[in-house]
Amino acid sequence: MNESEKHAPVSLRISITDRCQHRCIYCMGSEGVEKFTHQDILSFAEIIRFVQVLKRRFGLATVRITGGEPLVRRGVVELVKMLAAQGLSDLALTTNGQFLAAMAGELKQAGLDRVNISLDSINPDTYRRLTRGGELEAVLAGLAAALGSGLAPVKLNTIVLKGINSDEVVNIARFAIERRCEVRFLELMPIGPAGEQFADWFVSSQEVLGKLSEAFELEPARKEPGSSSRKYLAKDAQGRKGSIGLISSGTRPFCEQCRRLRLTSTGKLIGCLARPEGPNIRPLLQDAGKANESSLVKMISDVLGIKGKRRLFGRAEPMVRIGG
Ligand code: SAM
Ligand code: SF4
Repeated sequence: MNESEKHAPVSLRISITDRCQHRCIYCMGSEGVEKFTHQDILSFAEIIRFVQVLKRRFGLATVRITGGEPLVRRGVVELVKMLAAQGLSDLALTTNGQFLAAMAGELKQAGLDRVNISLDSINPDTYRRLTRGGELEAVLAGLAAALGSGLAPVKLNTIVLKGINSDEVVNIARFAIERRCEVRFLELMPIGPAGEQFADWFVSSQEVLGKLSEAFELEPARKEPGSSSRKYLAKDAQGRKGSIGLISSGTRPFCEQCRRLRLTSTGKLIGCLARPEGPNIRPLLQDAGKANESSLVKMISDVLGIKGKRRLFGRAEPMVRIGG
């Protein structure tokens, strides 16, 4: 019996770069992070080898490409093509949207199914402040291009930060519903720079729900298997309807059902964001031999073995390095 027969299938997030044109205040310090060199970063062939083993031995069906900012990695469209050729049931990408206007069409053509766009504010000044220099207009153009190119569904991710964007929750929800996008409000995790400001910035999903319920009728929707978000069907006073999700990593963790793995851009395999280091599997991806595959399967099983045993978050490594 292989691993996929024993358990629910795993899902994988692949960070393809540690680089990003933004320095979001909760994700990176103002100086950014020390960058890896090109040689440190997994090649596309190494990524594909891992995906193939995970698919064959652990029933991998869903992959999300992330970073850093995945659209700054040269050749990302080629990687999407290579991943799409693996026969996955869902191939998604998370992006800050800055380069999406120019790339949405070719990503779709290459086989990408859908995108999540991080949008923490729809106020240009707040957006600039939060991202340390990002232009809201570019993200909005990216969102329009994604909707126009059939990358569906387009989901918006918003981290709610007290005193920074917490007064925008209802406006962002309205903005999403008008564009027929699902918006998901995320609780901040105390990872990287967010750890230092956590007590000042953290807003619980419960508080977000309270704000939303003043503007919308909210009806809990059925939870999708493996999904990290609690969904609500929302209806506003004009009768417009949409879907709103809450991701409550702190107050309502979903560890019991979690089968998610993360592969960092340098080849570390991480089973849980709340846990420290994972093994570096890169040496095992450089040669497709049988001995390597069984060592790799053993390592993957060990990493999956830590699932369900929740610890407090406590790592210093920022999300830009791990892959959100
Ligand atoms: N650059 C892309 C983006 O921003 O969408 C992809 C990488 S980013 C690390 C992925 C997601 O992680 C973003 O939605 C971001 O808001 C989220 N994120 C970063 N730091 C976080 C933290 N401390 N707590 C919760 N989410 C975080
Ligand atoms: Fe870049 Fe995404 Fe981190 Fe913002 S959250 S700094 S866009 S990697």
